[in-house]
Amino acid sequence: MNKKRLVVLGGGESGVGAAILGVAKGFDTFLSDFGAIQPAYKSGLEARGIPFEELHHTQELILNADLVVKSPGIPDKAPIIQSLLKAGVPVISEIELAGRYTKAATICITGSNGKTTTTLMIYDLLKRAGLKVGLAGNIGKSFAWQVAEENFDYYVLEISSFQLDGMYDFRANVAILTNITPDHLDRYNYQFQNYIDSKFRIVQNQTEADFFIYNDDDPVIAAELDKKELPGKKLPFSTEHKVQEGGWIEENKMKLNIDNNTFDMTILELALQGKHNQNNSMAAGISGMVLKLRKDDIRACLSDFQGVEHRLERFMRVHDIEFINDSKATNINSVWYALESMSTPVVWIVGGTDKGNDYSQLFDLVKEKVKAIVCLGVDNSKIIAAFKDKGIEIVETKSMEEAVRSSYFLASKGDSVLLSPACASFDLFKNYEDRGQQFKEAVRNL
Ligand code: ADP
Repeated sequence: MNKKRLVVLGGGESGVGAAILGVAKGFDTFLSDFGAIQPAYKSGLEARGIPFEELHHTQELILNADLVVKSPGIPDKAPIIQSLLKAGVPVISEIELAGRYTKAATICITGSNGKTTTTLMIYDLLKRAGLKVGLAGNIGKSFAWQVAEENFDYYVLEISSFQLDGMYDFRANVAILTNITPDHLDRYNYQFQNYIDSKFRIVQNQTEADFFIYNDDDPVIAAELDKKELPGKKLPFSTEHKVQEGGWIEENKMKLNIDNNTFDMTILELALQGKHNQNNSMAAGISGMVLKLRKDDIRACLSDFQGVEHRLERFMRVHDIEFINDSKATNINSVWYALESMSTPVVWIVGGTDKGNDYSQLFDLVKEKVKAIVCLGVDNSKIIAAFKDKGIEIVETKSMEEAVRSSYFLASKGDSVLLSPACASFDLFKNYEDRGQQFKEAVRNL
């Protein structure tokens, strides 16, 4: 019998992982990348004798595929994907491929904000509980690669909407939806509903044996649930109201109830502060209860979890001014939660590449908490227009060093300087990590 041909498009972590799994499962495998492939990945492919090309796509080597795995970075409108779809070749994501070859239980996290934090918390929890668990998806080592070369019983997977778009038969045993707010609309024909539909693919194929953990305060999720019958057990969480089964906040306590099994701890004990992190902690705690982990392990995880760099990272005080790095806040919703969690006056560093922000959603919080705005971007006109008549001092800066020095000057003892940009970083920085590192470096140099 002829081998089936698997073509992988994209030679990054997920693509190389998919190719390695393809070979392990007996596919005639080929990888093609329109750009350059990093040397470490090239040597991984060479060491395993996997044929590949870079800097171009050779149509004849691709259109003859039986199955294509596409990297989540490649949009559907890319010409090569259009040709494949026209030819009727199935195009799937790396998560879908890997899911076909593992019996491990999957805990899958998606949402517009909070994915990485929640994913890492749950991974930490399962490791603490002594389970054989892998971490994958948008984070760490590729899922497919681990399915090929490791032997885990559980996987905690951070899943973006781009991955979900290429998932068809994959089944999440525990699915978590942190929230849905407009993001990446350029990839969804500027139709919010398309993006919502994509996020809800996280529960497709669930059965009565599975669990769906979601934010019950999110109006978009609520409206969608009104339209759908879902077979999995629904476990909502809320910071606003009590729920029957799931998690909620009551009298400064986080409370969980799953199947009449209860858990509570005070919110002051939670390692990560702020309402958004109460949500993330509840999602992690509920997952632990569903997996029947020891309550001591859940408590220890939620109270010791170290947090993730660039997410409301309180990393340094200088002359009693606290500097907080929230460089990963690239949309309005995450800035809303950052400001909400502040208990001191704030000098707010904001700006970058705007993805279509509606700043009016921040007016109340800015009025209440922000004493000065430091714009850091090539084009700050939208931010200035939004806030210029709010009676708050606004300054414009063009480099991180200048932004940090201006903030330091504007802040008084006891204040906080918050980098929470609401924008992507590409106008002045390589990526959000670079922006966060430069912020920390500039603060250290004060
Ligand atoms: P993602 O992986 O979905 O981008 P992260 O955990 O990296 O999420 O956090 C991204 C930004 O969103 C950070 O600024 C963080 O402080 C904020 N954030 C984290 N959790 C939530 C949440 N549940 N709701 C809203 N914002 C959040």
